Amino acid sequence: WRGARREGGGAMAAAGPGGPGRMELALLGPAPGAPSCPHGPALLFMKTSQGKEEGRRFYACSACRDRKDCNFFQWEDEKVSETRLAAREEYNRNHQPSCTHRQNVDRYKNFVLLPLSKRRFCQECQQLLLPAEWEKHSDHQFLCDITTAQLKSPSQLLYPLENKKTNAQYLFADRSCQFLLNLLIDLGFRRVLSVGTPRLHEVIQSKASEEEEFSVRSLLLDIDFRYSQFYTEDEFCHYNMFNHHFFGGEAARETCRKFLYEENGERVIMVTDPPFGGLVEALASSFKKLMAMWRETKKEGHDNKEMPMFWIFPYFFESRILDFFPSFSMMDYQVDYDNHALYKHGKTGRRQSPVRIFTNLTPSMIVLPEEEGYRFCTVCQRYVSSGNQHCEICNSCTSKDGRRWKHCVLCKKCVKPSWFHCNNCNCCTLQKHSCEKTDVGCFVCGKAGHKRSACPSLSCS
Ligand code: SAH
Ligand code: ZN
Ligand code: ZN
Ligand code: ZN
Ligand code: ZN
Repeated sequence: WRGARREGGGAMAAAGPGGPGRMELALLGPAPGAPSCPHGPALLFMKTSQGKEEGRRFYACSACRDRKDCNFFQWEDEKVSETRLAAREEYNRNHQPSCTHRQNVDRYKNFVLLPLSKRRFCQECQQLLLPAEWEKHSDHQFLCDITTAQLKSPSQLLYPLENKKTNAQYLFADRSCQFLLNLLIDLGFRRVLSVGTPRLHEVIQSKASEEEEFSVRSLLLDIDFRYSQFYTEDEFCHYNMFNHHFFGGEAARETCRKFLYEENGERVIMVTDPPFGGLVEALASSFKKLMAMWRETKKEGHDNKEMPMFWIFPYFFESRILDFFPSFSMMDYQVDYDNHALYKHGKTGRRQSPVRIFTNLTPSMIVLPEEEGYRFCTVCQRYVSSGNQHCEICNSCTSKDGRRWKHCVLCKKCVKPSWFHCNNCNCCTLQKHSCEKTDVGCFVCGKAGHKRSACPSLSCS
């Protein structure tokens, strides 16, 4: 585990009593014997004050970065009394969903038997209602005449959980979803492990139910339990990708394992689109466990091969992702979202999206749509965006954000078009910057001189 730096003053930093001054949090990762909160085993963090080497270690919730969502906190060396342990267990039990997945599957079976006029969906409780329950929800807003088509697109029926710090549900725009699906099919995959990609999952599942010759299947792993109302235990597992926790226990784990077992040459790919605020090292640790699960399903043959994967994440996390997955490369394709005002392509003129596909597949196999301006660079052997010019000095197509970058002879690399070389800082940066340096690197790009909030890689200028 490499320590992840996070800036002090955030929700987690407020967890322990902290003095003034800059405080850093390092993620030490999932630890054996870690206590649990309602979101499964907590992660071990270390609080360090500037200048000090070792800080006090504590456990905090893996899934919620906002204490309002889960306030679990325990010092690593804290002695927890039996009474408190019992209370915690009860609390965890009480904070599980009120319905089990099985119960929801049974409810769904009854729901689809109802005539259209009796199919209601409560918008407040985000729940399909059976007639006997109408009474209880009588003063709630609800939708009527829920069609089969609506049931097949739950991501349209449910409202997106936009809470930035916990769910950050940003749904693929149609164009990106179709692109991903066609790409997977063209690459010959027949099974998709959809980790935090409910919309991709639903497009696959509904196509499979409509077209007989369509043979792709998907298993959704997501922390959003609302999806258990629409999918069986073979289609959805309630899962936390920050600690690799299956809420459904061994049975759910087995479902996943079975899904990863490649029968009759049906190849599997994992596609994931985690919340961007998520800790890369926690995600990487879970994804490695999913990869290991895949590898273990084969007695022989896989050897050193990795499970094929698409990790969808902003381009400025490239170096962090490559730290954990050196075999990955970043594709130029810009992933678009429906409900993300910042990342959506406007009706007129495209707004750039910073979100990319990271994959361990050979880049030249990832064919990007030429009608959207992507072209194949024969030197780099990969598709690049239209503005991404091949730099003769770097011998590579160097743009990360889709715009044409310029080569700086002093930095010996290509930089953003709006940057200039600052002789003080001895590097290229924004015109407007302060030359003071802090000794702590930025969480996003790792460079010194600024905090994450001021990271030049985040700005579009
Ligand atoms: N673009 C995707 C959705 C990505 S949004 C699509 O259209 O299909 C991030 C997804 O990750 C959401 O579905 C959210 O519920 C899920 N998620 C958030 N935190 C999670 C966690 N800790 N474990 C598993 N899934 C999580
Ligand atoms: Zn090139
Ligand atoms: Zn260059
Ligand atoms: Zn400077
Ligand atoms: Zn930075």
